[in-house]
Amino acid sequence: MVSECAIQKLRSSIRGQVLYPGEQGYDSTRTLPNAMINRRPAAIARCAGVADVLACVRLAREHDLLVAVRGGGHSVAGKSVCDDGLMIDMSMMKGIRVDPVRHTVRAQTGVKLGEFDRETQAFGLATTQGVVPTVGMAGLTLGGGWGQLHAKYGLAVDNVIGADIVTADGRMLTVSANENQDLFWGIRGGSGNFGVVTSLEFRLYEVGPVFGGAVFYPTEKAEEVLKFWREFAAESPDELVTQGGSFRLPDGVPVFGIAACYCGALAEGEKVLKPLRTFGSPLADALSPMSYVQIQSMFEPFFPPGRRVYTKSNFLRELSDEAIHAMMPFVAKSPSPYTFAPFIEHWNGAATRVAPTDTAFPHRQYEWNFLAWSMWTEPTDDEKNVQWTRECWEAIKPFLVAGSYGNYVTDEGEAIAREAYGQNYDQLVALKNKYDPTNFFRLNHNIKPSNVPNAAHAD
Ligand SMILES: Cc1cc2nc3c(=O)[nH]c(=O)nc-3n(C[C@H](O)[C@H](O)[C@H](O)COP(=O)(O)OP(=O)(O)OC[C@H]3O[C@@H](n4cnc5c(N)ncnc54)[C@H](O)[C@@H]3O)c2cc1C
Repeated sequence: MVSECAIQKLRSSIRGQVLYPGEQGYDSTRTLPNAMINRRPAAIARCAGVADVLACVRLAREHDLLVAVRGGGHSVAGKSVCDDGLMIDMSMMKGIRVDPVRHTVRAQTGVKLGEFDRETQAFGLATTQGVVPTVGMAGLTLGGGWGQLHAKYGLAVDNVIGADIVTADGRMLTVSANENQDLFWGIRGGSGNFGVVTSLEFRLYEVGPVFGGAVFYPTEKAEEVLKFWREFAAESPDELVTQGGSFRLPDGVPVFGIAACYCGALAEGEKVLKPLRTFGSPLADALSPMSYVQIQSMFEPFFPPGRRVYTKSNFLRELSDEAIHAMMPFVAKSPSPYTFAPFIEHWNGAATRVAPTDTAFPHRQYEWNFLAWSMWTEPTDDEKNVQWTRECWEAIKPFLVAGSYGNYVTDEGEAIAREAYGQNYDQLVALKNKYDPTNFFRLNHNIKPSNVPNAAHAD
């Protein structure tokens, strides 16, 4: 527990707000979009700047407090809030500055994807971020960052050129290709394991209107559609990103949908996507030219806050006929109308041409990522939805590799962390030993230092 005196000290030393249980803003800040998570920190610090973050880390260290760091709050595992301890909330830190000449942007880590895209697009620029605008830029980027531009420009981590980070010893370090290179490597995929990142700098690209949207097929055609998509995707240019699976439209109609974004010339995009529109008899074709900001908000209505969320995800060894067949019993069969499963992302192009050890994010060799992303509303339905998600994943498991994108995984523990960090795990442990030997930052897919002096700090 945090002593009253410690919190008073924090309150008097930060520019932002310190919130106690019962105070206005406390509940709304501790509440994550995933309603399965309900934790009550002893105090929440809503930081206004780097000095506040430094004060929080130093105080938490001095008083041996558990620390949770919240960016956009979308961690499906609920890692950005803790019971007791101190929640460091970055959501008020929304400074963002685009340099239209150098094609870079520096953003503080309270920025959400919609805000990020809006600011960069004001200059006709963009870089890879995820596809739901309410998600936090920080959590997404530090864990990897897959999105509509990844095939052309790489993952979000591949475009980070610098960051400021407050480390466990209460210092702020600048990391880049020239400064603290080891930590620069580690934050690009090592999630929040190494400190509180206060700002990130990215490379930007000229991105105009895109040709994209989605095509919806009847769920009975899912097997044929998947086989067709597999062949179609084999010829996918770097400008094109596709993802698809079984879900329901907002009016409740079950569909097998494929969403697409072509970020090159519009006429070429129309040509490239023609086979997708003319295959079989789609229920609806919602592909058209649109602004990048528009396509980046396409999924938002499907992910309102307050739904209960449980997810499983691993990369597929290959999208074989057998793997496709194994998915079929689950198409349109989720107990909840809000679930996306089975669902698949195509990982291709630039993101897959980076060597697995170039960044801490290791998963560069797989073409297809499998997700079972369950969402429902009633606590009484928890068991049946979690169980269905696991059954769906178990059925596909023979076709999955051990590697998984940590940002998509609810379950936790050392085995999951090893799946998330893959071949880079040991190097990340060495880095953790150097920068966070007591495992001060442990609410994440945790990389345990090998020399933790206090067993309590190792979970
Ligand atoms: C609706 C939805 C859509 C998604 N779409 C995509 C997508 O298109 N592409 C994709 O790649 N991922 C996607 N994701 C996954 C997403 O990348 C992760 O959920 C990510 O962790 C969210 O980041 P956040 O800042 O919102 O979350 P938070 O819950 O705030 O943080 C997640 C983790 O990052 C750590 N963290 C956050 N901020 C900082 C910081 N400043 N310094 C250090 N550590 C920090 C937290 O401590 C926590 O461990 C999606 C998730 C959801 C729920």
